Amino acid sequence: MTPQPLLEVARLFLCLYTQAALSAPFVRQVAAGNHRCLAWPKGQVATMTSSTLSLATEIEAATGVNPATCYQCGKCSAGCPMASESDLRPHQVMRRVMYGSREQTLRDESIWLCLTCETCSARCPNACDPAGVIDALREISIESGMATMPRTISAFHKSFLEQIRTNGRLHEVGLVVGYKLRSGALMNDVTNTPGLISRGKMGLLPDKIKGVAEVKRIFDKCGVTL
Ligand code: SF4
Ligand code: SF4
Repeated sequence: MTPQPLLEVARLFLCLYTQAALSAPFVRQVAAGNHRCLAWPKGQVATMTSSTLSLATEIEAATGVNPATCYQCGKCSAGCPMASESDLRPHQVMRRVMYGSREQTLRDESIWLCLTCETCSARCPNACDPAGVIDALREISIESGMATMPRTISAFHKSFLEQIRTNGRLHEVGLVVGYKLRSGALMNDVTNTPGLISRGKMGLLPDKIKGVAEVKRIFDKCGVTL
């Protein structure tokens, strides 16, 4: 048998094995040394520690998904539109939650490149909800001060939320202005603006909802600072 089929057979056994991945004997075995994982990003070694177990537990508490049920089929990553842009694809994120270091996972920029399109979750044959797991990882990374959100992504999220707090709904021009000021990308796509406005795709003035005060109260109660 050539090395490739051998690897595939080994991977199949590994995937079946991870169905019971958090069983005590397995944990002891892995914790005793480095466990080489074929689905792990090239050149890295996965080591299971108490902190990684706690990350899996945190994710299960936040999402209801037991990360150990992922059998690494890769169907999520095969449909992910950001797979070619991210260091970690959705199945690798799931793998890291199971085996990776907590800090390494929470500090990885890939979790911020996800578009939350939910294609991965729709494709998953085992209801593992990678999109929900990534979302929970974002929250945990912010709460633990480990978030490495790129400046442009942070600028977009803040500008979007600012519009919701101010108008109760999105005002596209306000979003673009806020994003450009925060990101510094002042001249990006400016030539598209006249066409968007003339076709009615961007209103110059915001269209506020009636309950703006209530929306603001929600923001205040959640302690959102932008
Ligand atoms: S599709 Fe589901 S089971 Fe398959 S690798 Fe992705 S999360 Fe895991
Ligand atoms: S939700 Fe994120 S990880 Fe899932 S397919 Fe979309 S971009 Fe990829």
